[in-house]
Amino acid sequence: MRVLAMLDGTLADPDRPQLRVDDLGIMRGDGIFETVLVAAGKPREMGPHLDRLARSAAMLDLPEPDRDAWTACAQLALDNWTGGDELALKLVYTRGIDGGNGTPTGFALAMDIAPTVLRQRQEGVAAITLERGIEPGAAERAPWLLLGAKALSYAVNMAALREAARRGADEVIFTEAGDSVLEGPTSTVIVADGHTLRTPPSTMGILPGTTQYALFRAAEQVDWTIKVEPIPVADLYCADGVMLASSVRKITRVHTLDGTALTETPGLHAELLKLYESEY
Ligand code: PLP
Repeated sequence: MRVLAMLDGTLADPDRPQLRVDDLGIMRGDGIFETVLVAAGKPREMGPHLDRLARSAAMLDLPEPDRDAWTACAQLALDNWTGGDELALKLVYTRGIDGGNGTPTGFALAMDIAPTVLRQRQEGVAAITLERGIEPGAAERAPWLLLGAKALSYAVNMAALREAARRGADEVIFTEAGDSVLEGPTSTVIVADGHTLRTPPSTMGILPGTTQYALFRAAEQVDWTIKVEPIPVADLYCADGVMLASSVRKITRVHTLDGTALTETPGLHAELLKLYESEY
């Protein structure tokens, strides 16, 4: 099932064309998005998602998103949802029509969660490492690369996932020069050792994850140590657990990396999931 609400406060038919072909979101992938998990009618981490939408908009020089309008637009979609208890809510904000008056296009699309994601939540994933091909320090030196913005141009990320499928894996962990962990094409990497959780810093040109943030918040409250620091790829092989976190997949275990089975401390995944859920 799908429900489409436009940023102007109207409902629209998701099975009918709604965008112009000359929308810059389509023509150039020039826009941004967020994907929010909704459970029992309540969006999770809506504040951090709207904060990140504003951050991405600033990075792309898009007009500052109207927070109230986005909140109302998201709610309109949710008010009209008659499907299952859990859904994904995608917020899309583009530069608008090519040669137009600069009015952005915005909509919220409520959708069912893909069966693959539901399965991977249970079973975990096999991942491969792939070099992202961006030099250390590029995020700061070259802001036009939009590293760490949640821009609509995800073709590279999707190509990486197809490469993983070609190699018989489900997921990718991007690396910097093969040595340092970055992120997944649609997820944050979290490494657990004892009661310590680590993730790489967004200054390395990766997206600050709302799911990772929620988990770390919860973990800190029960005295886990949290560290945001560069992580050598080698650490993934000796960690107590490696997880991929994102809104819709929540916390998913990586059980195999580049063909090597990773050992995971029994009960760790369930404990992290419980911590994450406690933030709800
Ligand atoms: N990194 C990238 C590149 C992503 O696309 C995503 C989400 O899609 C994430 C990390 C995880 O972010 P969040 O937990 O806010 O969904």
